[in-house]
Amino acid sequence: MAPNVVSSTLPEEHHEPQQETKPLEPVQIVWRNVLLFIALHSAALYGVYLVILKAALTSWLYGVFLCFLSGLGVTAGAHRLWTHKAYKAKLPLRIFLAFCNCMALQNDLYEWARDHRVHHKFAETNADPHNVNRGFFFAHMGWLMAKKQRDVIEKGKTVDISDVWADPVVRFQHRFYVPLCALACFIIPAAIPYYCWGEDLYVSCFGAGFTRYVVCLHFTWFVNSAAHMWGNKPYDKNISAVETKWVSALAIGEGFHNYHHTFPWDYSTSELGYKYNFTTLFIDCMAYIGQAYDLKTASKESVQQRKLRTGDGSYDELEKKHKD
Ligand SMILES: [Zn+2]
Ligand SMILES: [Zn+2]
Repeated sequence: MAPNVVSSTLPEEHHEPQQETKPLEPVQIVWRNVLLFIALHSAALYGVYLVILKAALTSWLYGVFLCFLSGLGVTAGAHRLWTHKAYKAKLPLRIFLAFCNCMALQNDLYEWARDHRVHHKFAETNADPHNVNRGFFFAHMGWLMAKKQRDVIEKGKTVDISDVWADPVVRFQHRFYVPLCALACFIIPAAIPYYCWGEDLYVSCFGAGFTRYVVCLHFTWFVNSAAHMWGNKPYDKNISAVETKWVSALAIGEGFHNYHHTFPWDYSTSELGYKYNFTTLFIDCMAYIGQAYDLKTASKESVQQRKLRTGDGSYDELEKKHKD
């Protein structure tokens, strides 16, 4: 067990019969976002073409490094730290994660935490912002191109996010979100390869900016789509969230989604350690140097009991595969 880890006895998530939600309203498409996504994906595809044709090996490695950084801004930052309070972080680490979060450009920390807490509380109802019952595309990215259902907004107001807003780092990021994202997501990532190893200007701008950004978006979006659709349910067979190894590999540890929806306050989002979970390795390293502390994790016994009580019986197979 890493330093500072407390084996917690916090309550597990119990999925009571879903609360009454309003019937689905007709979809109202936000055309501005549709056009924005078309432009963004076109720029990203052009970046793919340029990168394949022209990029130096250093630039490829740099692109992977940027994906890890922006990924951590979402996984270790927005998700595990600010939304779920699964651990605590000192100011330098919070600033670093907020910067990485700007690099990922997925709405500011406050808005991200609000949407995600609503997702957990009202999962699979019409109040869930990316309700998977509305299909793969809606859960993946369609929800960002449609007006929120009234139920999402109204039920969302019942979710307390004051603790997130209480962090001055979150308020600073919210206030200067646009210039910070311009810098962290596009200008700095593009300037480094151009100035440091003479990479082509277009490869730098489109590859490190747009292509890297869009690839990281889809890696995160798979958690809301694929990790609610295809996989097994060793911890709770009554929810849509599943364990999806390939999503964990792409989203640096966030595909163990059946575990995560069952024990949302566990800093590791899994009981399987570091495998496919770079985010846990990162948080443990931060705990080692004193930047992260009060890491919460579910005790082995409570996980075991929960598996026996509500799991689909697939855990033996899962553990065997993990050991191989
Ligand atoms: Zn989920
Ligand atoms: Zn979560």
